[in-house]
Amino acid sequence: MTAQQSKGIVYLVGAGPGDPRLITLRGIECLCNAEVVVYDYLANEQLLAYAPDGAERIYAGKIGGRHNQDQEEINRLLVQKGREGKRVVRLKGGDPFVFGRGGEECLALSAAGIPFEVVPGVTAGVGAAAYAGIPLTHRAITTSVAFVTGQEGKGKDESDIDWERLSIGNGTVVFYMGVRTLRQNMASLMANGRNPNTPVALVRWGTMLSQQVLTGCLSDIADRAEQADFKPPAVTIVGEVVKLRESLCWFDSRPLFGRKILVTRAADQAGEFSAILAGRGAMAIECPTIRLVEPEECSALDAAISAVGEYDWLVLTSGNAVRSFFQRLHAAGQDARALASCRVCAVGPKTAEAISAFGIRPDLVPPDYKAEGVVAEFGKQDIAGKRILFPRADRAREVIPCELAKMGAHVDSPVAYRNVLPDKLPPEALHALEKRSVDCITFTSSSTVQNLAAMLGDDLLVDMLKGVVVASIGPVTSNTCRELGLKVEIEPPRFTLQELAAAIERYFSQKPKTS
Ligand code: SAH
Repeated sequence: MTAQQSKGIVYLVGAGPGDPRLITLRGIECLCNAEVVVYDYLANEQLLAYAPDGAERIYAGKIGGRHNQDQEEINRLLVQKGREGKRVVRLKGGDPFVFGRGGEECLALSAAGIPFEVVPGVTAGVGAAAYAGIPLTHRAITTSVAFVTGQEGKGKDESDIDWERLSIGNGTVVFYMGVRTLRQNMASLMANGRNPNTPVALVRWGTMLSQQVLTGCLSDIADRAEQADFKPPAVTIVGEVVKLRESLCWFDSRPLFGRKILVTRAADQAGEFSAILAGRGAMAIECPTIRLVEPEECSALDAAISAVGEYDWLVLTSGNAVRSFFQRLHAAGQDARALASCRVCAVGPKTAEAISAFGIRPDLVPPDYKAEGVVAEFGKQDIAGKRILFPRADRAREVIPCELAKMGAHVDSPVAYRNVLPDKLPPEALHALEKRSVDCITFTSSSTVQNLAAMLGDDLLVDMLKGVVVASIGPVTSNTCRELGLKVEIEPPRFTLQELAAAIERYFSQKPKTS
């Protein structure tokens, strides 16, 4: 055995119940160092992004009991990769040792002499209960909880489950893999003495933004599930503790829970807004309508940068303007010190934050976060004869250069970046629009609306957005929406993403869910 081979190790990592943020730090650490990742159907695929680009990714999922690769084969694969000296992550939904066949995989590794580690995960029963607002144990209600497989695949007489003991007392029972066998499991509990009125909750896709909860009692939950066409994967929680959900449900009771919201920002910026919306319970679907690229012609910007010390003011109106300006400044071999004699104006707190990241504290942040706000602030001081540099997008409005020039300033406004149309809209977004399942679409600049109209065509824009609530970041964007035939229902009092999300939440908290 070579030195390289002897380094092989397999980490059985619990991916957690669904929400990818519920994995452990140790789990992420293992993924970051993996050479091979063997992952399951229930392990959130977003976690694969933590593995290095070059890592081999092998899907070994089992969907609804259909084994894509049987367990023997998975065991052999793990042993083989370990023998090859690889650092292998076996990523499994929930916890590896709770109905995860992790024990079998470890036995195979142990028999083959391959080192392994087990990284626990939040098991579905625990995760789904927490996100459904159901404490699995609670003083004065119950002192025990049992995790039980709902899918034994055996006849009643030869069941390994001790139904009698499971049914007596008031211990909470959590069934895994028990949606298809729900009726017979509930019947077994009742036949062995559990009160038919015992509350029951089915939690599907627990901890995910798509979480669905159905409640009832032992005697009626199977009918309810049938009526609702309730599908796996779900856990079934049986016990008096389920009642606490009425007071403790915190996750799926948020005003934006289950609302599908389209985010039309550029791909590299959509994430921040999606995260804000998801934090409020919404399902954000990214639908970038903008791609930011360098200007075709940089000579005007470069000329301004080479003489940047001669300007009295640098005005930056967006994070994109900030990043593209500094990128070009750095490319010219300069840094923030070149701006030592120049004052800096930022439009909006996000822009100010982006400037601060380059070590500069803006001298002026107008209280009104738009071009008119800049004009108003400069109107309060004498800027006649002052030199102002305003790097901007190719399609920016002319308000700042025109109005400041009227006040006697010399304004240079070189193009620092261009907004172009992406090649296509993401299929997930188009599909949601076509299915009419989108609740709200957000526009955070005029270009986001104009580009969507350009990609769909004006008529189709109005048609596809019928019934979709339009949320716009501010009056300029709202005007563009109206010019394109859209009715704007949400506009926050201040033009920030946080305020926009809060305004969307206010709007929907007054609207009952129809679906
Ligand atoms: N090792 C996993 C369980 C795998 S068995 C764990 O510890 O969670 C698969 C079963 O887990 C499914 O049939 C379902 O009952 C349950 N399950 C997994 N993810 C779930 C989720 N997000 N919500 C509800 N149940 C889930």
